[in-house]
Amino acid sequence: MKVEFLDLGRQTTALRPELNLAVHRVLAAGRFVGGDEVDAFEQEFAAFCGAGFAVGVNSGTDALELALRGLGVGVGDEVVTAANTCVPTVAAIVAAGATPVLVDPDPETMTLDPDRLEEALGQRTRAIVPVHLYGRCADMETIMRIAREHGVLVVEDVAQAHGAERSGRRAGTFGDAAAFSFYPTKNLGALGDAGAVVTNSRAVAERVRRLHAYGDAGDGAVERGRNSRLDPLQAAVLRAKLPYLDSWNERRRELAERYDAELSGLPLTLPRPSENGEHARHLYVVRSQQRELFRDQLARRGVGTLVHYERPIHHHPAYRSLARPGALDTSERLCAEVVSLPLYPELRDDELAWVVDAVHASLAHPRVASAPLRKSVGARGSGQP
Ligand SMILES: *Cc1c(COP(=O)(O)O)cnc(C)c1O
Repeated sequence: MKVEFLDLGRQTTALRPELNLAVHRVLAAGRFVGGDEVDAFEQEFAAFCGAGFAVGVNSGTDALELALRGLGVGVGDEVVTAANTCVPTVAAIVAAGATPVLVDPDPETMTLDPDRLEEALGQRTRAIVPVHLYGRCADMETIMRIAREHGVLVVEDVAQAHGAERSGRRAGTFGDAAAFSFYPTKNLGALGDAGAVVTNSRAVAERVRRLHAYGDAGDGAVERGRNSRLDPLQAAVLRAKLPYLDSWNERRRELAERYDAELSGLPLTLPRPSENGEHARHLYVVRSQQRELFRDQLARRGVGTLVHYERPIHHHPAYRSLARPGALDTSERLCAEVVSLPLYPELRDDELAWVVDAVHASLAHPRVASAPLRKSVGARGSGQP
């Protein structure tokens, strides 16, 4: 058997009738920028999050940049974020005109470590961008308390955690604003690029709305804005998919729980159980001391894996200047150990069983150059360490 890391085609195929309807509706309406589809999606998505307002934009990266700018963060300001995030988080901070300051995550949750946060806050800190990495909500109670004590704003990066919860609240409703991505592989994915800023503040929503349309809300360009709109076509597609998001996340959790149960006791660090709320399980990320060998062994058994992410931000050529010697060791270590196993709502039970088998076999015979594939997927249980 071959288990791809992700097969997006399955969702598109399953939803084909609804997606066709959505696209036809937009073609029939003949409105290709703004309009009812976008307004309706913004309202439906804000309601899904339990937030007051959503503004559709062109991508998650733009959502972060515009959320920061909408809060007045810009040139001369420092914005603290996690060093183990992906590049767009930091690219957006830079695009807003601000200077990123990197902080290590908690190695257990892999989200921003509140203990490290305080050390990174200084005179110029204007905002914190916690990233709900892999679908786990960061420790928002503590982060918000620290932010309020220091008079600092918070923009959540929720690109990987649509529908995640903590203490009964959904990710994206803790901070002053939040940024979502609907990149096709996210928990809610468009058929192309799309994103949204979510906030409870009418003033912030209005400013983001102005900034995403050249800075002009009808009375001239009162500030220097961008063009970053959510297309009605993507809005219609997202509206077709949104009603499934909770059940997709539920299926992700079910698969993740099976991995948790069936991979325990192996020389792998499994994701820590999420306390205090629902994990959106965007990615199932384990840690291995011998990651490359492990990935290679899994590949030989037909299992696709990816690494999120190969390097911490400060090891990318464009961001070397953000290095903080000695302060980002955890990120560096995590980037060398993390590996993501296949996990998406359409992954079948027999495929998960195959992956579980392959993981056991890979760790039992790590040095066999070309291990034979196991014949029966269901018959795991022999010869495990
Ligand atoms: C995907 C992602 C982004 C960027 O979203 P785009 O829509 O690709 O611009 C930002 N932050 C995180 C954590 C992401 O996973």
